[in-house]
Amino acid sequence: MFSDMIKGCIETHYPKAVAIRHHLHQYPELSEQEVKTAALVADTLQEQGIETQRGIAGNGALGIIRGEKPGKTVLLRADMDALKVQEAAELPYRSTYPGIMHACGHDGHTAGLLLAAMVLTELKAHVPGTVKLMFQPAEETVGGAERMIQAGILENPRVDAAFGCHLWGPVPEGLVCVKAGPVMASPDEFRITLKGPGGHGAMPQITVDPVVTAAQVILQMQTIVSRRLNPLDPAVVSVCMIHGGETYNVIPGEVRLGGTIRTLREELREGIPREIERILKGVTLSAGGSYTLEVFKGFPPLINDPAATALARKAAEKIVGPEKVREAETNMGGEDFAYLAQQVPASFFFVGIGKANAPVIHHSPFFTWDDSALKISAGCLCQIALDFLHGSC
Ligand SMILES: [Zn+2]
Ligand SMILES: [Zn+2]
Repeated sequence: MFSDMIKGCIETHYPKAVAIRHHLHQYPELSEQEVKTAALVADTLQEQGIETQRGIAGNGALGIIRGEKPGKTVLLRADMDALKVQEAAELPYRSTYPGIMHACGHDGHTAGLLLAAMVLTELKAHVPGTVKLMFQPAEETVGGAERMIQAGILENPRVDAAFGCHLWGPVPEGLVCVKAGPVMASPDEFRITLKGPGGHGAMPQITVDPVVTAAQVILQMQTIVSRRLNPLDPAVVSVCMIHGGETYNVIPGEVRLGGTIRTLREELREGIPREIERILKGVTLSAGGSYTLEVFKGFPPLINDPAATALARKAAEKIVGPEKVREAETNMGGEDFAYLAQQVPASFFFVGIGKANAPVIHHSPFFTWDDSALKISAGCLCQIALDFLHGSC
């Protein structure tokens, strides 16, 4: 039902969505600075006659399409922020701001949801209930989704289900991937300081050398995932930073390490820092010296609701055909849509933008994708919303 109407409306509004995407790509804004992006979003929603709220939790915007009949409420979500990356690809619509780029595809998420808004407005007579269109700030940093939830966007009317998607480089163009259960990880951060005292590089016997301690700690940490966890329980522990020492003949007083812990379960989020601490205690006890450990929790793991995912799968099949809907691979990236999925039944899916011979890598200066993915992302979101509100698939 409705898929032909949706596809027809998408063709009508597609050129406008592409123009918006190119504009956003040329004028990208960093997390918590999405002022002009949010204004463009809100203005576009208002042009469509959509009830619009601005300035939610900073730069968040919300559109509310009230259907002509009563019914449930479904929320569709896009994120708006760009990254500190210098664009390297030669595009006619390349970023005009030095060092800032839409290198994750959030320009496409925003333009795609605006396209869905135009289509759903046109199909309003067929909307029983309400569609909320959530345009959030700061996905890449502080988690704008959580802030918008705290500001009350899931109430008045109460949201019954939430859906969103990511344009996805590892998936080939034309495909849509869905999966029930855990699909993305919790991106937690750790910071470690290993303390000496250091001293003369020629007289290590009267120092405690935090460089050697750091080396032992880093190697020991490789055994957390490989030796301490169930091999069927995915997790990543990566030491991504190591800072210590200034010159060749001084053993430094301290070495700082930093990195990320990725898991799909709350129990591991608690358990892995305890394992890190055990290693720190043991290594510093044997070497002397001391340590500090800080862990900063990021977003929760993203867990897709089975029923919402089944609905998303069937809706996507209507837009791209059953043979082009695949099972998603769980990945250990983080995604703050997870906060929505904690509150209401929700499903987050992936729209392919990958090329056969050249993988499209997110957060890379060469990240680029074809506009036509907008038709698929917007088409799926519209179909999902209508199917959900009609209580059918
Ligand atoms: Zn990103
Ligand atoms: Zn992203």
